[in-house]
Amino acid sequence: MTGLVTRFAPSPTGLLHLGHAYAAGCAFGAAKEAGGICILRIEDIDATRCGPEFETAIMEDLRWLSLDWPELVRRQSDHLAEYKSALDRLIEGGLAYRCFKTRKEVAEAIASAPHEAGEVFVSGPLPPAGERALLDAGQPYAWRLSLEAARAHLGTKYDALAFTVEASESPHDAQTVNARPELLGDVVIARKDAGTSYHLASVHDDALQGVTHVIRGVDLAGSAHIHRLLQALLDYPPVIYRHHPLLTGPDGRRYAKRDRAVTLRALREAGHTPEDIGTLISQHIAQGHMLRHEDMHG
Ligand code: GLU
Repeated sequence: MTGLVTRFAPSPTGLLHLGHAYAAGCAFGAAKEAGGICILRIEDIDATRCGPEFETAIMEDLRWLSLDWPELVRRQSDHLAEYKSALDRLIEGGLAYRCFKTRKEVAEAIASAPHEAGEVFVSGPLPPAGERALLDAGQPYAWRLSLEAARAHLGTKYDALAFTVEASESPHDAQTVNARPELLGDVVIARKDAGTSYHLASVHDDALQGVTHVIRGVDLAGSAHIHRLLQALLDYPPVIYRHHPLLTGPDGRRYAKRDRAVTLRALREAGHTPEDIGTLISQHIAQGHMLRHEDMHG
């Protein structure tokens, strides 16, 4: 395979841990194997949780692991105007609506209306008078993608939307998956506080950066359904997906920020070498300390 372009796209909300080292290894390793490239992208749209000190630490850790990326590192917070243009295109196309609900209200709405497909939220736009009143009262709002409007807009193309998923460990093993955006519902495409969302910024950047393969954790496997739809609505090319397992501790829980002992910095300070990191990852895999697609998605 030639021309593979993938990316490692951490959010600088904390120090990288062993799970990130494995994730980075999957993306950078795939690029190396295919003679392609792996871009580094900093996904820092959440100003309250992201910090420049973590961005610096991420680069330090990745360099320590001898990973190498093209010099230009895209930092999402530098490009909010671009995401706004993409959002405006969706709004102008009648594909998005304002949502004034708080997180708590959304959680309550989901809880009180159990949905077959899981935790999805579809409120639909407010009647104009109700919306006007909230706008006049200065209430903050997010923008949600309207699946109903998307379906009307794309017509028969909506049901025909599909994407390719390659098996993470054997990429020749590929399958075509029908996109089912309703699994996620009317997702937020612009948060109240950020003017964009993970979904919109990620899809926009993948298109802009010529990403051919999105290689990320199985926790984000569901996002492909909505990302494929956003690509179709914004005239962005489709990408191929690979979803790698997530490393867990012996308790079966995926590593997270609370697991200070397995941050790459802590491991380095304890005298471990980059080779040791590879060994630790192999041990996790051998011992089955990982969450696979079937563990997370049934
Ligand atoms: N920024 C996301 C994270 O830190 C990764 C998103 C992606 O790879 O699409 O989990």
